[in-house]
Amino acid sequence: MKTILLAKSSSGEPYKVEFIADGSSLRVFCHCQAGVLQQMCKHKLALIKGDTNMLFDPKHAALLSEVHAWSQFGELKVRTAEYEKKLKEIESAKEVFAKKEKSIKQEFARGLTRGFK
Ligand SMILES: [Zn+2]
Repeated sequence: MKTILLAKSSSGEPYKVEFIADGSSLRVFCHCQAGVLQQMCKHKLALIKGDTNMLFDPKHAALLSEVHAWSQFGELKVRTAEYEKKLKEIESAKEVFAKKEKSIKQEFARGLTRGFK
């Protein structure tokens, strides 16, 4: 099975996003700049998450629903949840490091201003 949806782009020209179900696997391709380099892009993620706001043609919402109903989609849903969880963990870790960095810099600057004890 193959379904091609059009995703909105900032340039105005929509990008094709292909969902291809083959046996038990489901592949997703996007024709945007990142997508053609097989990198993650917002178009793939939005459509996987069912965000119809990303659709260039609102009439494609029904097609997107069909793709979401494919038997292969369940696995992708689980993987997407894991992917987002991992990214969230990294974001939290980044915040912790950013705070640590700020505190180290403040402490050093204080030492330079008032003298180190
Ligand atoms: Zn894309």
